Amino acid sequence: MSGEARVRAARNVIVSTWERRLDPMADLATEAAQALEDAGLLRSPQAAESDGGQKPEQYVVALPWARLMDSEDLGEFLDELAAAAITNTSPEEALAEVEAACGTWRVIAEAQHAHNTAPGPEAAPSPSADDLPEPYGCRYCGIPEAAHLQQWSANEGWHGFREPTEKQVVKRMLRRRGVHEAEAKAGGTSV
Ligand SMILES: [Zn+2]
Repeated sequence: MSGEARVRAARNVIVSTWERRLDPMADLATEAAQALEDAGLLRSPQAAESDGGQKPEQYVVALPWARLMDSEDLGEFLDELAAAAITNTSPEEALAEVEAACGTWRVIAEAQHAHNTAPGPEAAPSPSADDLPEPYGCRYCGIPEAAHLQQWSANEGWHGFREPTEKQVVKRMLRRRGVHEAEAKAGGTSV
């Protein structure tokens, strides 16, 4: 990318950060710097070139679906993610909780987004609460014990059914209720 294009991209990042005004008390310079860093624009042009000269919009976004959420949901998701990451267990279990939180919130984000952008009643059915893990489903994959046998999950690989934690059960119930409510609000026909 040329120097001029990088400056233009950096300006766009800063402007969009300011437009979002996530936190009116935040230090704007820090916010802008963080946004630039996130967009990969703080690296030297040489480093960017040696990477194949990707444009910032082509950088891989780790959680693209998280951007579909409104700021209230995003805040809740990030809180849950933070709590999962610092859960007082082994790093492996913490990772499983982080993955579970991402999986659950991804369904919510995509369901909400589908409702918000649905063109009308003829639209394809969007994900429903049925797509969320069973509250008492497996800790790692959400599949109920009766149907579990051996399942594969990204974190655990092949595993047998494992009881979910109390916290997981409660969160899953809340998530399912949330999606039901969203469906009702959106006038969904399911349920
Ligand atoms: Zn499982």
